Amino acid sequence: MPSWIERSWTRGILTTRYPRTPASEAETPATARAPVPPQGAPIPPSAVASCPVEAISPRGVDQGRCIRCARCLTQGLRLDGAAESAVSARSELLLPAGGGTTRPTAPLASLGRSLHLFLVDVGSCNACNLEVVALANPFYDSQRLGLFFTNSPRHADVLLVVGVPTEPMVEPLRRAYEAMPGPKAVVAIGACPISGGAFRGNPGLRGSIDELLPVDVYVPGCPPTPIQILDAILRLRGAGRREG
Ligand code: SF4
Ligand code: SF4
Repeated sequence: MPSWIERSWTRGILTTRYPRTPASEAETPATARAPVPPQGAPIPPSAVASCPVEAISPRGVDQGRCIRCARCLTQGLRLDGAAESAVSARSELLLPAGGGTTRPTAPLASLGRSLHLFLVDVGSCNACNLEVVALANPFYDSQRLGLFFTNSPRHADVLLVVGVPTEPMVEPLRRAYEAMPGPKAVVAIGACPISGGAFRGNPGLRGSIDELLPVDVYVPGCPPTPIQILDAILRLRGAGRREG
């Protein structure tokens, strides 16, 4: 037997089984989890003071601001949020409670076909880009789920936005969105487009992407993992794990 056949036989399929089965431990590293306060206990003032991006307040932790620096873990918080953490409303990123329940929406469910994804970087550090493009590699193999990257917004159903919204990218982003045919959806990936992340308040930046476009799904993290991004995209057509 040729050695490559033998190797494939013994290794088996290496592509992730997600979303058919839950993400494995290796696919959900600690940074995929959100810092949450201890059950029922108030948030210690030292934890509020430890956060460099003001994500922690006495009410809870704003996952849309959290950059996963882990400083609060020495002040009584722990990484324990859900691995599939994408939500449809900005307010739902406040943990615990205060954000209401997750609002399931599937704005692209009517398409009933594959989805084409257009990625726009409005000012990232490149980490979120790497996590997004990893979806096309043989491990995540987004094509098996009918998800394809396109180089033209005119062929796109989904606008994936990474990075903090910088002034020079505001107009190109708007033009990309307007060039997309409907129905269409916008996914904000990472703390940068959701809240400005580590760069919040700097001159030349907009506060968040939802000041510019209607965002359908928010994916917290810095950066989020490919599984978290996959979960967010699948939600758009109501075909992810959480939607059955
Ligand atoms: S892990 Fe998040 S919430 Fe905790 S200190 Fe860092 S940025 Fe703030
Ligand atoms: S969210 Fe974090 S990882 Fe993503 S672009 Fe911003 S700084 Fe980089």
